[in-house]
Amino acid sequence: MTIYPQRPGEKDCAHYMLTRTCKFGDSCKFDHPVWVPEGGIPDWKEVTVAIIITIIIFMPMKIISYCIVHLLLVIVKLTCILTILYFIESYRVKHM
Ligand SMILES: [Zn+2]
Repeated sequence: MTIYPQRPGEKDCAHYMLTRTCKFGDSCKFDHPVWVPEGGIPDWKEVTVAIIITIIIFMPMKIISYCIVHLLLVIVKLTCILTILYFIESYRVKHM
């Protein structure tokens, strides 16, 4: 059983995950977890895709609504500040 380079934090080597072999060997820049069984995980990509789809469906809703609320608050604050500055400026011009 060949031991390929361990690079925790890097992406899993796709070919290694599917077949437990990697033609790049020591020069491969991806991670090769030792727990992958002999012969690889044939449905590895499907599992990954399922996780990604789950994240895409459930995460952005919260993130997008959070971002929109904060963006609106920033716009309201900026508008208030600009309005106040405009009135101060026009007041100063009138009384000079
Ligand atoms: Zn590899």
